[in-house]
Amino acid sequence: MHEYSIVAELVEKVGAIARERRAKTVRRLSVRIGELSGVETQLLETAYRMFRERTVCAEAELTILPVVARWVCSECRQPVKKGAILRCPVCGQPARLLEGDEIILDRVEMEVA
Ligand SMILES: [Zn+2]
Repeated sequence: MHEYSIVAELVEKVGAIARERRAKTVRRLSVRIGELSGVETQLLETAYRMFRERTVCAEAELTILPVVARWVCSECRQPVKKGAILRCPVCGQPARLLEGDEIILDRVEMEVA
């Protein structure tokens, strides 16, 4: 399961941050998940619940912040609509993805002793 390795990586990252700040407990982590990232948020939540046991995240809630895909022109940065042909309506250049494929640890809330 792809989501399981993502969770493993996230929990490891949070662990490193918690050690760095000498945190007692982690309360919450927020993760930005792009709609094109290939991540099933429900599977991610399930994987997280299984994985967090006996880690620094054992009591931390997971908040998933979905990110809608957005394209812009690679030349003039004009926004390009989803669903349409992914080309700039102004200059005709191909669009590039601005956001929507990310898996990013956005925020970690923790208690410092
Ligand atoms: Zn353009």
